[in-house]
Amino acid sequence: MKNELILDKNNLSYWLRQIRKNRELIGPLMNDGNDIVFKSVDRIHELVLDCPASLPSPKEFIFPQYEPMLRMRQASNVKRQEITDLSDETKRVIFGVRSCDISALGLLDKFYLEGHKDPYYAERRRNTLFISIVCNDPAPTCFCIGLGTGPYLEKGFDIQITDLGDRYFVQIGSPEGAKTVKAMSFLFRRPQKTDYEDQYEVFLSSKARFHKRINLKGIRQMILEEKVKDDFWQWVAGRCFECGGCVYDCPLCTCFTVTDREYPYGIERIRLWDACMFKGFTRMAGGVLPNEAMVKRTKRWYYHKLIHYPEKLGGFGCVGCGRCTITCPGKIDMASIATKLKGLAISEEEK
Ligand code: SF4
Ligand code: SF4
Repeated sequence: MKNELILDKNNLSYWLRQIRKNRELIGPLMNDGNDIVFKSVDRIHELVLDCPASLPSPKEFIFPQYEPMLRMRQASNVKRQEITDLSDETKRVIFGVRSCDISALGLLDKFYLEGHKDPYYAERRRNTLFISIVCNDPAPTCFCIGLGTGPYLEKGFDIQITDLGDRYFVQIGSPEGAKTVKAMSFLFRRPQKTDYEDQYEVFLSSKARFHKRINLKGIRQMILEEKVKDDFWQWVAGRCFECGGCVYDCPLCTCFTVTDREYPYGIERIRLWDACMFKGFTRMAGGVLPNEAMVKRTKRWYYHKLIHYPEKLGGFGCVGCGRCTITCPGKIDMASIATKLKGLAISEEEK
């Protein structure tokens, strides 16, 4: 089977219904507050495919905000504990994911699977198929174009589709993706010259629509050369409300905490999202707070994403999804900070 195919739009619903027979179908839907969120799809016609980035990101299906890990129960009449593993083994397909979130997945995989392997993440990842859609019309907050993390990808997806009006250009990127398409091969046809031309046209027009071009390499270099002074980070810290929105909505933030909760039947160990912006994130025994000063925390978030991520994982801890721009009440999101630092660098040069 070819890696590039065409799916008539009239066949999308049937294809997804067939996939749903074996997997839970997750997709972008509008909630009661008019936000686009990824959730289990009941009515396929309600999928929202013309909105660039959901809020929050679909990372919650492989790294959930609340994840039961195991249950410990005291066995009756026996001096031992029964331990039940609560790993989620549900097979899912996540449809309509954006390229930036697929790019983020590549780095999350490195973080959770290389070296010490996280078994909970690994289980969910193994059971999840991603069908991504190219952004034909990026939002004003998006800046993946400057980072090479979208709007269109060469790899990293299981299946990538591009909307060509009355049909989808379908690209297969993994053996599982190939299996999924092959199972319904009669729905697809080989692309013709006009399909390739239209796909290229859509790609060019999407690239031209980006409002923001953010150069993270430039600000990384400024930080490395110690051109960003402490008073700048103080200014950033002064604008932070410590709400954690940037961390929770970012497809690349990985902070978590583990806690045990007591129930009548025993103890459940759970993993919860945490945020390095919170004062208690690195609390030590005895109640010591090494990062009590806000400036340490805000600065660390940027250092983590711009300096440590590239060193450890080979890419920025930012894929330009623009969610922190939408979320941050202090307007100290990644794009705003990058723009501000670029402005400072220009005014320094002009002195
Ligand atoms: S730092 Fe902001 S723009 Fe970058 S990936 Fe995270 S939420 Fe998106
Ligand atoms: S979203 Fe903005 S205000 Fe809230 S914690 Fe993040 S940087 Fe601070």
